[in-house]
Amino acid sequence: MDVYKTFTSPTAIKQQLTGILNGIMSRKIRILVVEDEAAIRTGLIDVLVYHGYEVDFAEEGPAGLKKAQTGQFDLILLDVMLPGMDGFEICNRIRQDDREQPIIMLTAKTSDDDIIHGLSLGADDYVAKPFSVAQLVLRIQAVLRRAKISIEQQHRIELDTDTYIDTQNLNGKRKDEELSFTRREMDILQYLHTHSDRPITRDELLSKIWGYAKDLDIETRTVDIHVAKLRRKIEHSSSDPKFLITVRGAGYRLNIK
Ligand code: CA
Repeated sequence: MDVYKTFTSPTAIKQQLTGILNGIMSRKIRILVVEDEAAIRTGLIDVLVYHGYEVDFAEEGPAGLKKAQTGQFDLILLDVMLPGMDGFEICNRIRQDDREQPIIMLTAKTSDDDIIHGLSLGADDYVAKPFSVAQLVLRIQAVLRRAKISIEQQHRIELDTDTYIDTQNLNGKRKDEELSFTRREMDILQYLHTHSDRPITRDELLSKIWGYAKDLDIETRTVDIHVAKLRRKIEHSSSDPKFLITVRGAGYRLNIK
């Protein structure tokens, strides 16, 4: 039965297609280098290309800001002292549009004040010149890793330290066990999660998830069956639920920390 489902459910097919498309569309990580000193800029570009990154560059402030605002970069390496507009100003302007853009400042200034100023404007990290290539590459990898994790975390509901749900990929993990959910199951979890401050009645779930009008006399067992299925997946013991709890006379609530 499970095998049959794997090949026929629209969700499974969609997941498989998404996986294939992600493979086809996987692209190089794009880095923008904004640096006016030609020797440093050329050196940086060589190193980054060598490490498999796709690199674009700007030689002065305003051009750097324009590329940062119009291009899609996974990371921006931003010098502080630049003709036209300094790196602090550029960082500040980028942050006004995009709070998530990873930025590493390259600074010749090593005084703590400058570093603190750069970080307070929203740079993710800084590297003081002169820097070693190895050190820079490690910093780049760390910033990219944190950015990736923060994107993943936006789709993640942590039920406890052993259990999470990935709302985007319709899967999750309970201890070492892989979980997978149908779109409808995930809709229920997401709805309960968004409203975890209060119990949700069966009627509300039927109306919000299934789209049934409230005055229709629908079999509320539909909801209970889905809840039972969800409990078998997410609970450590489905007979003693800790996450998807019943609030007597009021409905269901997602109990998260
Ligand atoms: Ca400079």
